[in-house]
Amino acid sequence: MKVLVINSGSSSIKFQLFKMPEQEVIASGLVEKIGLKNGEIHYNTQKKSVNIEMEIPDHAVGLREVVNLLMSSASGVISNVDEIEMIGHRVVHGGKEFLNTVEINQDVIDRIKSLFNLAPLHNPPNHVGIVVAQDIFPNARQIAVFDTSFHQTIPEKAHTFAIPLKFRDEHDIRLYGFHGISHHYVSQKAIEYLHNPKAKLIVIHLGNGCSMTAVKDGKSIDHSLGFGPNQGLIMGTRSGDIDQGVIFYLMEKFNMGAQEVSDLLTKKSGMLGLTGDSDLRGIEERANNGDEIAQLALEMNTYRIKKYIGTYAAVLNGLDAIVFTAGIGENSELIRAKVCEDMNYFGIELDANKNSIRSKEIREISTEYSRTKVLVIPTNEELQIAKECFAFQQK
Ligand code: AMP
Repeated sequence: MKVLVINSGSSSIKFQLFKMPEQEVIASGLVEKIGLKNGEIHYNTQKKSVNIEMEIPDHAVGLREVVNLLMSSASGVISNVDEIEMIGHRVVHGGKEFLNTVEINQDVIDRIKSLFNLAPLHNPPNHVGIVVAQDIFPNARQIAVFDTSFHQTIPEKAHTFAIPLKFRDEHDIRLYGFHGISHHYVSQKAIEYLHNPKAKLIVIHLGNGCSMTAVKDGKSIDHSLGFGPNQGLIMGTRSGDIDQGVIFYLMEKFNMGAQEVSDLLTKKSGMLGLTGDSDLRGIEERANNGDEIAQLALEMNTYRIKKYIGTYAAVLNGLDAIVFTAGIGENSELIRAKVCEDMNYFGIELDANKNSIRSKEIREISTEYSRTKVLVIPTNEELQIAKECFAFQQK
């Protein structure tokens, strides 16, 4: 069967068409700069690459262009829209409403809309993607896969904030967690690799956004992102954990409004705020050339990750493996090395040679004597969504 996976953002649509259960990618691509005159469509199949620049006023126009490409005589891979039996949508926030992947109907759409205030930047474009796809593929089953669902197993003691309970019970203020589709995929791969469904794992997702999950028996039991997207690790432009005293001080001392402080902490902080650069490659190069600010930022970044490893090792009461994933986790030898430095108390011993190997495959980069394994597992959120669609079909 053919499954189209759609990840609809505010000005972009990422898509991949899979043949399942073979997990074969038939076509993939990206529509970007939606809403602008110079919109772009990048489309790839095993044989062809097509790049188009055109005005893309909205998501509907963008997705229709993708469908035209999927069906075109020159670069197409299907002959009519009904060949696509299922569409899997990434939806960032499922609140406490959605514990699992669901088939989309009007009730699901209304509930996704009711969560707009919890994820104002993400859920509205996810919702648009669903509505547009329903119109273009009227006969396909549409499935919603939520980034928050994997974290619904986090126990109450870990997901409740120590503020009056009415804020949790009446206003849904609690830890939800994000990047769940990636953490789910990577932890399953780790469990398969280790042949141990009970493995105690810490998954470290380091991309533009960064987060860590403690995984026990294949389930998320704690996670570093919380109610919003700025808790835990230091990210490209986000501060991660910060003393709340700083927020109130900024507001009082500099007369800053809530939005201004939020922008400061989420768009102008993190590695960007420290170094002026949000892309880690540039920062690593500067650090290698002796730039002390870049060196400090890398020290701070990896120190924070170490602190969370300590926390989660305690929460798990043991550790079988730590797993690095996403753009930085999969590619940065330096970050992995710094995180694993002086961690023998946790049984972590990195093999420098294995760490330096570049590969797109799952790999073990710890020494053969390391009590805790260190793994690098490339994430694949789209494949996870396609797998969940296929599993749904089997029900
Ligand atoms: P993602 O959000 O998973 O696409 O990750 C994007 C981030 O990965 C970017 O901010 C880059 O800084 C980082 N990245 C990608 N390739 C490398 C690399 N070779 N070395 C260090 N960082 C990298």
